[in-house]
Amino acid sequence: MQMKRTTTSISKDTRCSFIKPSGDRCGAARVRDSGYCYFHSPTCQEERHAARVRGGLARHATGEPGDYRIESPADILVILERAVNDCFAQAPTLGRAKTLAQICSVLLKGMEVVEFESRLRVLEQAVFKAIEDKR
Ligand SMILES: [Zn+2]
Repeated sequence: MQMKRTTTSISKDTRCSFIKPSGDRCGAARVRDSGYCYFHSPTCQEERHAARVRGGLARHATGEPGDYRIESPADILVILERAVNDCFAQAPTLGRAKTLAQICSVLLKGMEVVEFESRLRVLEQAVFKAIEDKR
């Protein structure tokens, strides 16, 4: 003889009750005893705000504001060098690695420009001196 098992199962809905403007339900996991997820729970509002502030502070450099005077390619190199150091000072991410590669690429080109400018200046001075000496 087979006994029939009669258990009453109460299915507890653990999904967020928030209804999006599209009419769809959020569906993310609820927090604590709230009927909402972390992002939609009114009781998590302060916590969310504090987390955003912490994230914002961590993301942005906390150093002094830039006060660079740009008058030559060499001045740009100083700024790029600073940007590279700022990149290394933060946690490594794919985005930062790409930024670093881009900065280094521009930095190399800038170094070439500065070197050529310096060599050209020496050549110009030598030519002008030779012209002066012939007079
Ligand atoms: Zn939600």
